Amino acid sequence: ARAQAMEVDESPEVTYDDIGGIDEQIREVREAVEDPLLNPEKFDTVGVEPPSGVLLHGPPGTGKTMLAKAVANQTDATFIKMAGSELVRKFIGEGSRLVRDLFDLAAEREPAVIFIDEIDAVAAKRTDSKTSGDAEVQRTMMQLLSEMDGFDDRGDIRIMAATNRFDMLDGAILRPGRFDRLIEVPKPNAEGRERILRIHTSEMNLAETLDFADLAEETEGMSGADLASLTTEAGMFAIRDGRDEVAMTDFTDAMAKIEQTDADPQTVYH
Ligand code: ATP
Repeated sequence: ARAQAMEVDESPEVTYDDIGGIDEQIREVREAVEDPLLNPEKFDTVGVEPPSGVLLHGPPGTGKTMLAKAVANQTDATFIKMAGSELVRKFIGEGSRLVRDLFDLAAEREPAVIFIDEIDAVAAKRTDSKTSGDAEVQRTMMQLLSEMDGFDDRGDIRIMAATNRFDMLDGAILRPGRFDRLIEVPKPNAEGRERILRIHTSEMNLAETLDFADLAEETEGMSGADLASLTTEAGMFAIRDGRDEVAMTDFTDAMAKIEQTDADPQTVYH
């Protein structure tokens, strides 16, 4: 079960340079996660505890997973990802077991960055319903909190989590010693979108007429993930047309196609 539920990457390839439009968030992650791993003596000398857990929150596809991978890369740490939805299990004790496995694995592979995506799946506010499923999810969350409480003894392990549903989280996980550093990761503004488009087209053969500032204006509302697929789609248009350069019209066509796909109820899957 362990291997299926977790994604382990000994040396993730994402770097901070691959992430566009969220420089301030990168700075905060470096301070809260990277520094305690690379320069623990700084914290000892000043006599402060580094943040226990860092919670990234914001819309889907904005670079939260990339941030966690980049910090693991920068610190030569093993990246261990667990989806919160994987922790929601049918059988009693199964979710808690996975949480223990997760922290045990991190201890074996330290330095390690644990990344729990969709943490809201196990850490949503208590509902009134008393179904056994809910009680089991509660137990899993308690296990997670207790692992975090016993964290000091665990050495070079940092824990990060992400959610798109910050409003749903139980306050218990945000207390000091738990996820006590919150970093909001928003959708990119025009400048950020331009940067992201430049990153994702850096390997592309582009027509000289391509106007990044213009593209950035026209992609208002798109996330980094949206921009990444837009770029690929534009490249596909150029290939279909038998050209070896990607032009502005390819991006316009790609945008039209994506808008149309979004509007088609058959293909809405989120
Ligand atoms: P989710 O909440 O859906 O898990 P996320 O915030 O973790 O999303 P990522 O998995 O980090 O998003 O991003 C998905 C993909 O979108 C990345 O692999 C990358 O191609 C692109 N992307 C997202 N944000 C950025 C960004 N800020 N800069 C560059 N690329 C980005």
